[in-house]
Amino acid sequence: MNSMTIEIKALLENVATVRVAISSFISNLDITIDELMDVKTAVSEAVTNSVEHGYDGILDDESTVMINAYIIADEEDMIRIEVIDKGVGIEDIELATTPTYTSKPELEHAGMGFTIMESFMDEIVIDSSKNEGTKITMNKKLKKKKSREISV
Ligand code: ATP
Ligand code: MG
Repeated sequence: MNSMTIEIKALLENVATVRVAISSFISNLDITIDELMDVKTAVSEAVTNSVEHGYDGILDDESTVMINAYIIADEEDMIRIEVIDKGVGIEDIELATTPTYTSKPELEHAGMGFTIMESFMDEIVIDSSKNEGTKITMNKKLKKKKSREISV
């Protein structure tokens, strides 16, 4: 197993840095451009949510988002990403994950972040407690190179 942890202040300008760091970490794997884009997009959605909803712009020195990335080597390599904030938490996870639901419709949110994460990754687990924070765990298995060559 290989791993990387980065911790950012909860600012939107840091989301791009996370994307670059995650790309760099996983790009040594036998990964397709599509798979790489999927992971980058899902991570961006989760980190953006932590910044925009978890902290909602109310920041102190503790207002950080931690991103843990793991490469779990097996017959099929798996990428696991955890995005953790210590923000307000999600009160109703079922509602929050409903496609097009957003608690901020006035800010032109489409309410599609969780739907995107679910469709681009194989598995999403949400742990959240009110006023303690939110942890999103996302897994994606990479297709085997051999099966890819055959399908070309
Ligand atoms: P979009 O992602 O399309 O801009 P959105 O962020 O509102 O819109 P989702 O990403 O699907 O949509 O999130 C749905 C809702 O879940 C949010 O509106 C917010 O209320 C809640 N939520 C998501 N992530 C967090 C978080 N880390 N902390 C607190 N609430 C969250
Ligand atoms: Mg979102």
